[in-house]
Amino acid sequence: MAGLYIHIPFCHKACPYCDFYFLTNQKWKAPFIEALEGEIHDRAEELEIPIESIYFGGGTPSMLVPEEMARILECIEGHFGRSNEIELTIEANPEDLSEKNLESWKQCGINRLSIGVQTLNEEKLKGLGRNHKVQDSIEGLERAQRLGFGNISVDLIFATGDEKDLDSELDDYLRLDVQHISAYGLTVEEGTPLARLVGKGRKTLVEDDEYRRQFLLIHEKLESAGFGHYEISNYAKDGFESRHNSSYWNRKAYLGLGPSAHSYRNNSRRWNESNLPNYCKQIQFEEEALSARDQFNEAIMTGLRQKRGVDLAELSERFPAATKSMIEQSEGFIQDNLMEKNDNFLRLSLEGMLMSDHICSELFWIDED
Ligand code: SF4
Repeated sequence: MAGLYIHIPFCHKACPYCDFYFLTNQKWKAPFIEALEGEIHDRAEELEIPIESIYFGGGTPSMLVPEEMARILECIEGHFGRSNEIELTIEANPEDLSEKNLESWKQCGINRLSIGVQTLNEEKLKGLGRNHKVQDSIEGLERAQRLGFGNISVDLIFATGDEKDLDSELDDYLRLDVQHISAYGLTVEEGTPLARLVGKGRKTLVEDDEYRRQFLLIHEKLESAGFGHYEISNYAKDGFESRHNSSYWNRKAYLGLGPSAHSYRNNSRRWNESNLPNYCKQIQFEEEALSARDQFNEAIMTGLRQKRGVDLAELSERFPAATKSMIEQSEGFIQDNLMEKNDNFLRLSLEGMLMSDHICSELFWIDED
C-alpha cells in the first residue's frame, strides 16, 4: 500500500546544518495551505487507495496551528478516505509540544510523533543552534505520553564533535521510554552555515575512528535495551518500525505534496520545485523515468540500508545479469566481513554499514559506454 508525504515548509529559525527547504516567514502560511489543498485535489488519483501512511515532514509541521492541521487533514480525508489503521505521523519540535497542540493532534487522529530532540546534552544542543532547551524535550515528551501517545520517535544526532559523554547521554535517551530512535551522524551539507564554518576551520567534526566508536556504541546500547537496528540510522522496539519510511526503503509508491516534496510511483520520480512563492502561484516540478539500471541501483541502495538486506531472488528475477555480477562483486566484501549472505538475502554487517556508500557504489550496475 502507498504513502502520502506532506512537506510543511516553515521553521521558527534556520538550524546551521540544515539543507531542507523551508522559510521562516509565516506570511506564506495561508496561501500555502490553499495551494496544498489544490495539489491534493489535482493529484489524489495518482495514488491507489487505501493508503497505509501519512507523514507530515518539513520544515516544522508542528508550527501549524490546530485549525490549519485539521483543515489539511479534512482535505486529505475527502480525497483518500481515512481508516484507523493508517500510520499518521507528525514531525514536531520540542518547543511546540504544548498541551493544546498535542490534544488537537490526538483529536485529528495523529497516532505517531517524531520529535526533533537531537540531543539531551545542553552544550551540544547549543552547538547545533537549535531553538529549544533539553528541558523542553523532556517535559514535552512527558506531556505527550501523559496524553496517550504511545508511538513516539526521537532523533539523536551524533558525531558532532561535541560529544563529551555519549554513553550517559544514551542512558538519558533510554529513560525517555520511547518506541523509536533515529540516530544520524552529523553531515556537512553544501551551502549551509555549518559548511562555511567547517571551510574556515572554525568547526571540526569527528575523525573516522571516533565516528565508528560512536556508531558502535549507539548500536550496542540500543540493541541491549531492546531496540532493533532495522535500518542504518533507525532503531525500533518490536512492531514500532516506521511504516512510512519503510515504504520508501521498500520502493512502494508514495505521493509527496508541497514545495520540494518528492514522489515515486511506476518506476518514475517527480520532485516539486523548492520555492514556496512559486508553489502558491503555479506548481512547477520535474520528473524522470528510472532506467533499468537506475531501478537496480536504487534497489541495492535501499535494500542495503535495511537489516533484512537485498532480496536476491526478487532482484534476480527482474535483473538476472546485473544481479549475477553484483553477487560476484560482493564476494570480496563477504570475505572481509563487511557483508553477509544467507536465506537469499544480501546485507551489510555492522562494520559494512560504516562503509555503506563505498560498498553500494562498488555493487552498482555501471554502464560501460
Ligand atoms: S527545525 Fe528541522 S527543518 Fe527546520 S531548520 Fe532546523 S533542522 Fe531544518
